[in-house]
Amino acid sequence: MLVLRFKPYTLQLKYPFGIAGNTRTTTPIVLTELEYDGVIGYGEASLPPYLGETQESVQLFLSQLSLNHFSPFEPKEILIYVNNLLPGNTAAKASVDIALHDLFGKLNSIPCYKMFGANPALMPKTSITIGIDTEEVIAKKVNETIGFDILKVKLGSVDDKKIINAIRKVTNKVLSVDVNQGWKDKHFALEMIEWLNEQNVLFVEQPMPKEMLNEISWLTERSPLPVIADESIQRLSDLDNIKNAYNGINIKLMKCSGMYEASKLIDKAREYNLKILIGCMNESSCANMAAAQLAPLADWVDLDGPFLINNNPFKDPEIKEGKIVLSELPGIGLELNTSSSL
Ligand code: MG
Repeated sequence: MLVLRFKPYTLQLKYPFGIAGNTRTTTPIVLTELEYDGVIGYGEASLPPYLGETQESVQLFLSQLSLNHFSPFEPKEILIYVNNLLPGNTAAKASVDIALHDLFGKLNSIPCYKMFGANPALMPKTSITIGIDTEEVIAKKVNETIGFDILKVKLGSVDDKKIINAIRKVTNKVLSVDVNQGWKDKHFALEMIEWLNEQNVLFVEQPMPKEMLNEISWLTERSPLPVIADESIQRLSDLDNIKNAYNGINIKLMKCSGMYEASKLIDKAREYNLKILIGCMNESSCANMAAAQLAPLADWVDLDGPFLINNNPFKDPEIKEGKIVLSELPGIGLELNTSSSL
C-alpha cells in the first residue's frame, strides 16, 4: 500500500536573502515521504512567500489526497490524479511528484536522470546566488563561493552598477544576472544590459515586470544578452503566451508542479528554440537533487538552494568542477544526514 507522510520544516538561510522587493531569513518548506513495501521516496515543497502557498495550504492539500489504492508502478495515473484534484498548489503537487519519482526510481533501481534520458556527462556548471547586500558583505559572500565558477547576481535595486563593480573588485568569475522584475523602463533596461554585456555576464533573468510583455519583447529584440523568463512562466500552459518575448525560460519544480511537467517544459522549449535554465527556490537537497536529475538537459543550471541554508535535513549535493554530481544512486540520489523519518 502506498502511504504518504508529511511535516513542516523551516530552512534557516545563511544570509538574509535580498532580492528586488524583499528580504527574508527563513523559508518554510514541507517534507514528504511516499512509502511502498518498506521503500521510501522523498519529496519537498518549498514555499517562498511571494508564490502564495504556505505550510498550511500544502498540508491541507496533501491531507486531501488518497493514494492508498494507487500503484507506484503507474506513476502517471497518480500524477494526473494529484494535478486534477485542485488548481494551483504547484509546490504541494511537486512534493508528491518528487517523492513519487524517487520511489519509482528506487523500486526499479534506476536513477531518475536515466528515466528522462539525461546524460550526467552533459551537466552544466551551477551558479550560486549573491543576494543584494552592502559592498562589504558582497565581497565576503563572493569569497565564500569557492568550488562554484558562476555567480548569480540579484539586481533590480538603485545600486545595480555599484553591486557589479563591488563583485568585479573581488572576482573575475562568470556572472548571471537576475533582476526579479526590478527595472520598470525598457530604455533603462537596455542601457543596463548593454553595460552588463561588457562585464562577462551569461544572461539576464526577468529584467522587467511580467505584465510588461510588449516592453520585454522590445528589449529581447535589442538585447546583446539572452533574456530569460522566470516570474513570467510557471507551467507548460504559460509557454505559448511568452515564447516570443524571451530567449529562454527558467524552469523550477515548485512553479511547474514537479519533475514530470518540467521534462515536458524542456521538450516544448526546445521545440520553440528557447534556451533552458533549471533553477530552484530556497530548497533543501531534496528538491535540489530532483531538479539536478533534469539539469543535463538544460543550457544553464542555477541549483544552489542547499548551499544557502545552514540546516539542510539531507546531505549537501556533491560539487565537482562547479557541477552537481549525479551518482548511480536510484531515484533522486538523495542521501540522508541521519535517520530523518517523519
Ligand atoms: Mg529568478
